[in-house]
Amino acid sequence: MLLQNITVIGAGTMGNGIAHVFAQNGFSVTLVDVNAAQLEKAVQTISKNMDRQVAKGILSEEQKQAALANLVMETGIANGVSNARLVVEAATEHIALKLKIFAELDAAAPADAILATNTSSISITKIAAATKRPEKVIGMHFMNPVPVMKLVEIINGYATTKEVSETIVALSKQLGKIPCVVNDYPGFVANRVLMPMINEAICSLFEGVAGVEEIDTVMKLGMAHPMGPLQLADFIGLDVCLSILRVLYEGFGNPKYAPCPLLVNMVTAGKLGVKSGEGFYSYTAGSKELVVSKRFL
Ligand code: NAD
Repeated sequence: MLLQNITVIGAGTMGNGIAHVFAQNGFSVTLVDVNAAQLEKAVQTISKNMDRQVAKGILSEEQKQAALANLVMETGIANGVSNARLVVEAATEHIALKLKIFAELDAAAPADAILATNTSSISITKIAAATKRPEKVIGMHFMNPVPVMKLVEIINGYATTKEVSETIVALSKQLGKIPCVVNDYPGFVANRVLMPMINEAICSLFEGVAGVEEIDTVMKLGMAHPMGPLQLADFIGLDVCLSILRVLYEGFGNPKYAPCPLLVNMVTAGKLGVKSGEGFYSYTAGSKELVVSKRFL
C-alpha cells in the first residue's frame, strides 16, 4: 500500500520529530495541534534541527528547503486528516484524550487510512476500541529524539491485521528506521524493561544506597549506557516515568512495578526533570554542564 499523505497529531517533542522524519523522506505531512503557538514553535524546531543536519552533511540546504515545503500546519483534526493515508497520533499521554482523538480520527479520516499512535504505554487494543476500524489501528512508537534514534517499536493490537503491521514495518524502513514488532501488553517491550530499571535507580537513591552521581556513573561505566538512569529519567520527564510505571503496576497487578515514593513526591512537587528545570539534576538554559540538584547533595 502506498502511503504518501501523512498526518501527525500533536506538535510537541515527539510530534515535531515525527513530522521532521516524514517530511525529510519526501512524504506530504500535515501537522495538527490544538495550540497554534505550539505549531509555530514546532516549525522553528524542525528548521533548527534540519540546520544541524545540514551542518553535519546529512542534508543539503536544497533538501532542507524541499523537506520544509512538504509540511503544512492545521489546528483542526477534521481538516487535517481528510486526505490522510496514515495518521500518527502524538498528543499528550492521557488515556481519555487519546480515546477522544481516535473517535474523531475514525469519523474524519478516509475509511482505508491506518491510524497509528506513538503512545509510550497506553493499550493499543483499548485505543483501537474507540474506533470502528480496530484492525487498522497500530502502535508506532518512535524514540526521542526522533530524527536521531533508529528504533521504531511497532505494537500490534489484538485486532491489528498482518497487512497493516507489514505496511508499517515497510514504511519505517523507508524512513531509515529499524522496526521491531511486539505485542500489546503493558509497557510493550521498551518501557517494560526500561522503567523498572529507572524506578530501581530512584529507590536506590531513596534508600541511601548511593548518591545521584554514583548511581549514574555505575550504570554508565559499568553497563556502557550512554547516560545514567537518573539523567535519562530527567530527560524523559519524571511525570511521564510515573505515569508509565502506574500503567505497568495496574496492568500487571504486580507490586514489583510500584513507583518509588520519591518519584511520586518529586512529580507532586513539580520537579519533572529537564522540562521544569529541575529533577535529579538542575538545568539552566544554555548550560551543558550536568549539576546534581541541591536537594540530593
Ligand atoms: P508533548 O506534551 O511535548 O506534546 C503533546 C502535544 O499534543 C502538545 O503540543 C499539545 O498541544 C498537543 N495536543 C493535546 N491535545 C491535542 C488534541 N486534541 N489535538 C491535537 N494536539 C493535541 O508530549 P510528547 O512528549 O511529544 O508526547 C507525545 C506522545 O508521545 C505521548 O503519547 C508520549 O507518551 C509519547 N512518547 C513520548 C516520548 C518522550 O520522550 N517524550 C517518547 C516516546 C513516546
